[in-house]
Amino acid sequence: MTIDAPPKPVSSLEPTFAFDNSYARMSDRFFVRTNPTPVAAPRLIHLNRALARELGLNAEALSQSAAASIFAGNRIPSGAEPIATAYAGHQFGGFNPKLGDGRAILLGELIAPDGRRFDLQLKGSGPTAFSRRGDGRAALGPVLREYIISEAMVALGIATTRSLAAVTTGETVQRETPLPGAVLTRVASSHIRIGTFQYFAVRKDIDGVRELADHVIARHYPDAARSASPYLALLDGIIARQAQLVAQWMLIGFIHGVMNTDNTSIAGETIDYGPCAFMDIYDPATVYSSIDEQGRYAYGNQPTIIQWNLTRLAETLLPLIADDTTIAIAQAQAALDAFSSLYSTTYSDGLRAKIGFSTAHADDLALGQDLLQRMHRNGCDMTQTFRALCDAAADEGNDQNVRALFANPADFDAWAITWRQRLQLETTTPQARREAMRAVNPAFIPRNHLVEETIAAAVNKDDFAPFERLLKVLEKPFQDQPVAQRYSLPPKPDEIVRATFCGT
Ligand code: AMP
Ligand code: MG
Repeated sequence: MTIDAPPKPVSSLEPTFAFDNSYARMSDRFFVRTNPTPVAAPRLIHLNRALARELGLNAEALSQSAAASIFAGNRIPSGAEPIATAYAGHQFGGFNPKLGDGRAILLGELIAPDGRRFDLQLKGSGPTAFSRRGDGRAALGPVLREYIISEAMVALGIATTRSLAAVTTGETVQRETPLPGAVLTRVASSHIRIGTFQYFAVRKDIDGVRELADHVIARHYPDAARSASPYLALLDGIIARQAQLVAQWMLIGFIHGVMNTDNTSIAGETIDYGPCAFMDIYDPATVYSSIDEQGRYAYGNQPTIIQWNLTRLAETLLPLIADDTTIAIAQAQAALDAFSSLYSTTYSDGLRAKIGFSTAHADDLALGQDLLQRMHRNGCDMTQTFRALCDAAADEGNDQNVRALFANPADFDAWAITWRQRLQLETTTPQARREAMRAVNPAFIPRNHLVEETIAAAVNKDDFAPFERLLKVLEKPFQDQPVAQRYSLPPKPDEIVRATFCGT
C-alpha cells in the first residue's frame, strides 16, 4: 500500500505491509504523529519468520539489512503512519493523568491474510511527546526478556502481544550503567489499555470516551454493537476476557509484575512485559519485581488487582452506560460482580485438568487447592510437580518422582490417597489421562535464571546463541525434549534470581 507516493516498481526486496491505520484516522486527541528517531547502526538479532508469515509479510524477501533498518525505525515502510498514543493510568494505585507512548511508536495496523487486524509497534524507538524525562529508548536486556516471555506465552496458549523482531541499535542507553540499546517490534490485537479510557475520562472528554468505546467495539467486541446496551456489553466483554486471562496466568505460575491500569489491555492480551517472571517454587506471596516493594502485584494478588483495574475502567464508561448515574453505577456494578464466577470457571476447569480430571465433581477445586497448599508447605517447584504428576496419574509406580519434590513426601502421599479415589470416577484410560495432563502441564517455562543467563550472554558477550536456543525449546513447552533437559529444571541455589528489573 502506498499513500501519497508514486507507484514503485515491484521489487522482491521491497516487503509489502498491508497497512490500514484505523487508529490514526481517529480524532487527533488520541495521538501525536511522531516518526521514530533513526539509530546509528541497526543490526537484526532475530526475526520471527513464523509470525511474519502469519501477518502476510514477505519476510523471505527481506534482506538482513533491510529488516534491521525497518525494525529499528530507520526506514518507515510505505503505508505506515507513525503515531505515539495518549493514555493515563494508575501506577501502583496512584493516578497519573498523562502517560502515553513515551518510548513506543505505533507504525500502523496490518491486515493479515486471514483478515485479522494487528498493531505493529516499535518499542525503544526514540522520544515522543509523552516521554517526560525518559529517553524513549530501550535496553537490550528488557527487549530480550519481552521477546522470550511473550513468545513463550503464545506456545503456552495464553493471549498475549507478540514479538516480531529485535534489533540492536549500535547505541548505548544510559541506565544505572551504560547498556546496549535495542528496539523490539511488537504485534498486538491493539495497544488500547484501561488507561486509554482513563485519559479521556479524567479530562471529562465524554466525546473522546465514546469515540474510543465505539472504536473498541467495532474492533474487538463486534457482538456488543448488537446488544441493547452496547457500552455495558463492552464492559462485560472486557471483564470476561481479563477474568480468563488472569486465571490462565494463575494456572501456569505467571507473575506480570506491573499490573498498572496502563498495562491492562482492552483486548484481553498479556501486555507490557517488564519485570514479569514465572514462579519456580509455588508460593502465592511471590514477588520478583524490584520496584514492587509492597508486594501489590504478588502472584496471589493478581485476581484481586485485575478486579480493581476493571473497576477503574467501569468508572470511565458510566456516562455512556446510562444518563442516570445511579442506574449506570448499578449496571456497572452488576457487570463487575460477574467477574468472580467467570474467573472461577476458567480457574477451576484449568486446575481440574491439571490434576487429571476430565469430568467435574463437587470437591475437585478443593482437592486441587489442597495440593497447591501442600506444594507451598513443601517448597515444591510448581512446574515440575504438575509435570511429574502426569506420569503418576498413569501409574502409581511413578509416584516417587512427585514425592521426591516434597520436603516431606508423606504430605504428598496423604493427598494422593484422596486423589486416587477421585480418579476412580474417571472413565478415560490412564494413558489418555496422562496425555491430557501433559497437554496442560508444561515441561518448559521461561524460568528466570534461564532468561537472565541468555540476557547476560547477549549483553556482556554479544552472544545470542543462548537466546536462540532458549527460544527454540520454549516453542514446544508441552513436549519432552531430552536434549534440553537442563531447561526443565529449577535453578540451583546459586542460580536463583530474586529480583527482576524493568530496566527501562
Ligand atoms: P511501563 O513501565 O513500560 O509500563 O511504562 C510506563 C510509562 O513510562 C509509559 O508511559 C512509558 O511510555 C513511559 N516510559 C517508560 N520507559 C521510558 C523511556 N525510557 N523513555 C520515555 N518514556 C518511558
Ligand atoms: Mg506500560
